[in-house]
Amino acid sequence: MAENAREEAAAGQAACRRCGACCLSGGPALHAADLPLLDRGAIPREHLITVRRGELADNPVAGRVQATRVELVKIAGSGREWRCFYYDEEGKGCRIYGQRPLACEELKCWDTAAILALVEKDVLSRLDIVGADEPLRPLIVAHEDQCPVPDLQRLAARLREIDPAEREALQQLVARDLAFRDRVVRQLGLTLGLELFAFGRPIFQLLAPLGIRAAMTAAGPVLQWPEK
Ligand code: SF4
Ligand code: SF4
Repeated sequence: MAENAREEAAAGQAACRRCGACCLSGGPALHAADLPLLDRGAIPREHLITVRRGELADNPVAGRVQATRVELVKIAGSGREWRCFYYDEEGKGCRIYGQRPLACEELKCWDTAAILALVEKDVLSRLDIVGADEPLRPLIVAHEDQCPVPDLQRLAARLREIDPAEREALQQLVARDLAFRDRVVRQLGLTLGLELFAFGRPIFQLLAPLGIRAAMTAAGPVLQWPEK
């Protein structure tokens, strides 16, 4: 939840006012207790997004953006917004309230102890969700092996010191990631939603907040680095 929203919602409060601020700031990470919701189809994979280990994300315990130490599978946002996919803005409520994930049940913006205790604890990963006999499973493993999330924290800290060889390696990683996705999307007929669950966001999108842009050319992606 955004700090302002949390403070605003929490002022003098002892119960949920159903203001929706928490749902507007993003979908929750899923925990082991949520597996039955997935198994019975209450939350389809299409509506999930994976945050791979090492991606930069707001850590409310640390109180800052940092690299995630574990993989997270979260409810996706709406379109290009972070607002939880299941938040009904007109009706001001959750469209799956009776089957909402554990983190939503535990979230009390006026008393954050329970929700903070859940951060990066007993979280679900893709391999907890995808069955042993599904063709997607070895592809997730292969993608992690061939296209790991780069050390984004180090990159952010040393952005202007990255040498040409490392820049080239990063560009190749971006290209490999895109080619891998393209191949698997065609092979399995994945929708964008399922691709984001299976492989998280493309690496070039993870670089954009650092100021590293990718220009898509006929020869492949070309990284554009911020001016020194
Ligand atoms: S828990 Fe969420 S919906 Fe309820 S008052 Fe707090 S921010 Fe608003
Ligand atoms: S699942 Fe429901 S309660 Fe949880 S963040 Fe989304 S809209 Fe809010």
